Amino acid sequence: MSTASNDNVRVRFAPSPTGALHIGGARTALYNWLMARGSGGTFVLRIEDTDRERSTPENVEQILDALRWLELDWDEGPYSQFERRERHKEAIERLIEAGVAYRDPATAEDVRAWKAEHGNRGYRGTPKDVEGAAVRLRVPDDGETVVEDVIRGPVSFPNAAQDDFVIARGDGTPLYNLAVAVDDAEMGITDVVRGDEHLSNTPKQVLVLRALGADVPRYAHLPLLHGPDGKKLSKRHGAASVQELRDAGYLPEAVRNYLALLGWGTEDDTTLMSTEELIERFRIERVGRSSAIFDERKLRWMNGRFMRELPLDEYTDAVASHIAAEGIEVGRDALKAACAIAQDKAQTLAEVWPLIRFLFEPPVDDPKAREKFLKPEHLENLRGVRAVLAETEPFDAPTLEERLTAFVEERGLKPKAVYQPLRVAITGTTVSPGIFDSVAALGRERTLERVDAALD
Ligand code: GLU
Repeated sequence: MSTASNDNVRVRFAPSPTGALHIGGARTALYNWLMARGSGGTFVLRIEDTDRERSTPENVEQILDALRWLELDWDEGPYSQFERRERHKEAIERLIEAGVAYRDPATAEDVRAWKAEHGNRGYRGTPKDVEGAAVRLRVPDDGETVVEDVIRGPVSFPNAAQDDFVIARGDGTPLYNLAVAVDDAEMGITDVVRGDEHLSNTPKQVLVLRALGADVPRYAHLPLLHGPDGKKLSKRHGAASVQELRDAGYLPEAVRNYLALLGWGTEDDTTLMSTEELIERFRIERVGRSSAIFDERKLRWMNGRFMRELPLDEYTDAVASHIAAEGIEVGRDALKAACAIAQDKAQTLAEVWPLIRFLFEPPVDDPKAREKFLKPEHLENLRGVRAVLAETEPFDAPTLEERLTAFVEERGLKPKAVYQPLRVAITGTTVSPGIFDSVAALGRERTLERVDAALD
């Protein structure tokens, strides 16, 4: 399934809108999108909303919202699977007319009894044209249905073990495997890329497609995602949905890079890649078979790298919209100046505001920091620092560094015994951007005010 420039490629992302978009779903969407963008093909979005209770407009919106945030744009859709139900019913009628599907009033209990009698083989019913009977697809007795999977190779499912499965309920509602197969066929899907948990459904979909005389797409079932402890990925591993990643202050481009590497990698194990590079290099056949590990610490690291590389204006925009979501609004120029000194220090957007808030608000009150760094011996140093600050001219970071370093050396002090008290005095906390940058950004007047307040 080489995707390199083949504009016939048609892939789809087909989420069931049951709530937030989880990380596994986001990776599936990304892989499909990369295949489409890398080949000049088409990325179709199909909402599998046949479960009417869970498919609320809010749940659908959450999925679209997450895809938009990830900047995975679709070329067609969103189609609603539910709204296509007449097409599914037509297909069922066609299958019945062709004699490859039949009505069967058998209950679950009848099926069990049949199996008990037939040595647990796949159930084969007897057509009975009664009102309210479910519709089953006739499965061949012999041979096997082989799913040619790009990642796993051929996977065989013996037909004798497969029940004649239900494709429509007694009330005429089409069932999931029928709907997916019909939609994939009618939407001209060439490549189905989805999570491993769907592999057991695939032979049924292949049987429906063959019965319809439709082309069978190529399949790629992606390995499961686990947490660093080897357990199936869940909330306890940290952020589990795209929404949570956004709120935690990750950049979409870093998330795309990280998700791309969950199961896939380049020959030379490149780690940091722009989205253009991902599009260029992604190959579905290089996805591995073993489960991939989602480790939020690695994502944080990667995100920090992307943050450092951002042009300052973009960085400032990203921080502005992140803090705006928390109801914080500050002037653009001041924010940009603050971002300039924090850019190297934060790994997520959420980490930026705590680093720079001292430039916009009075120092925070952290009794632990005060106790530790504003002891009498520190206050002594701080008094000396105050005198230096009062005279430093120009009041910029290089000059401050020069004067304060000289002060530390002359007095034979440990730098930490001078800079931490100063930091606590101006920010209230023990973490901030570089101390000289921080003091310069705060300016002489405010710095001296805060030092005086601390000395009190
Ligand atoms: N609707 C399914 C899900 O959300 C995906 C089905 C498919 O990709 O074929 O898991």
